[in-house]
Amino acid sequence: MRPLVLLDVDGPLNPWAANPKPDNYRLFEIKVGWRRRLRVWLDPEHGIQLRQLAEDTGAELAWATTWLHRANTEIGPRLGLPPLKVVEFHDETGWKYPAVARYAYERPLAWFDDDFGLHAARREQFVHKRRHLTTALIHVDPGTGISAQHLGEVRKAFSGNP
Ligand SMILES: [Mg+2]
Repeated sequence: MRPLVLLDVDGPLNPWAANPKPDNYRLFEIKVGWRRRLRVWLDPEHGIQLRQLAEDTGAELAWATTWLHRANTEIGPRLGLPPLKVVEFHDETGWKYPAVARYAYERPLAWFDDDFGLHAARREQFVHKRRHLTTALIHVDPGTGISAQHLGEVRKAFSGNP
């Protein structure tokens, strides 16, 4: 089955906690409401690196972010990513885990997020249910964003048996 790489936006792609922001990041002011603007830092290299990762591993990239479909209109184009499928979150307990479990189903999974520290019990349950499947939860520090090391972890996870 085709492996899946899930992308969170805030933290992994927008290192909101980095101070100062590394040089390769560009600031975008994104309108998110009638008068509200969000400052988002993005590194266009991430788009190139993620497309390469998907090509090399045969994986599908998809969004797992509270930006939901706006990731495709506001974030993807700024990174040079094509429109991606979106994991939809409903009002469920257990953070993103229930929706991701359904979406990924039995596919090998690598998932970038900065919030795996939340809901530890649900995380263990999620990982346990997927114990026979590749499940790489790749914690990305919101102070750094996705690095070459994180991308290497995905390649390594998908190079073994599913
Ligand atoms: Mg996040």
